[in-house]
Amino acid sequence: MSQEQTFLAIKPDAVQRGLIGPIITRFERRGYKLRAIKLIVPDRSLLEKHYDEHKGKPFFEKLVGFMGSGPVCAMVWEGKDVVKTGRAMLGATNPLNSAPGTIRGDYGIDLGRNVCHGSDSVDSAKYEINLWFQPTEIQQYDRAIEGWIY
Ligand code: ADP
Ligand code: MG
Repeated sequence: MSQEQTFLAIKPDAVQRGLIGPIITRFERRGYKLRAIKLIVPDRSLLEKHYDEHKGKPFFEKLVGFMGSGPVCAMVWEGKDVVKTGRAMLGATNPLNSAPGTIRGDYGIDLGRNVCHGSDSVDSAKYEINLWFQPTEIQQYDRAIEGWIY
């Protein structure tokens, strides 16, 4: 069984709207394991590293300003193919293009307030997990159902 991990961040809009629970529930019900979780108001330095690939783009300042405007729910999720499947569960970047049934497609209509972030590759997941979490904040544990139900 692959132990692939991904980084998810429930964005300030979704925290304000009370969507932490429904988003977590989707990943739990799919069969993924929560390895780390915290509420954090990310500072500019963290966000600049997190969104390094977008530095210089016209939306960068607005994006960083918004992401630092309130608590974000940062998480590490683990399980089979979780990076790719997590992105599929989020839906397209612009919620207006996200299929119904996806998180963004069910909960959003605005590109800048698109509910949730998810790592886009195994390498960026490693980078983002290391950026947002100390190793001691990531829990290693077994669940009773592992081995007979995935
Ligand atoms: P994703 O979050 O799906 O990986 P990107 O990495 O392309 O998407 O962009 C990061 C975030 O920046 C998006 O989730 C979205 O909130 C915001 N964003 C992307 N493109 C634009 C844009 N053209 N205008 C405003 N905000 C944008
Ligand atoms: Mg991205």
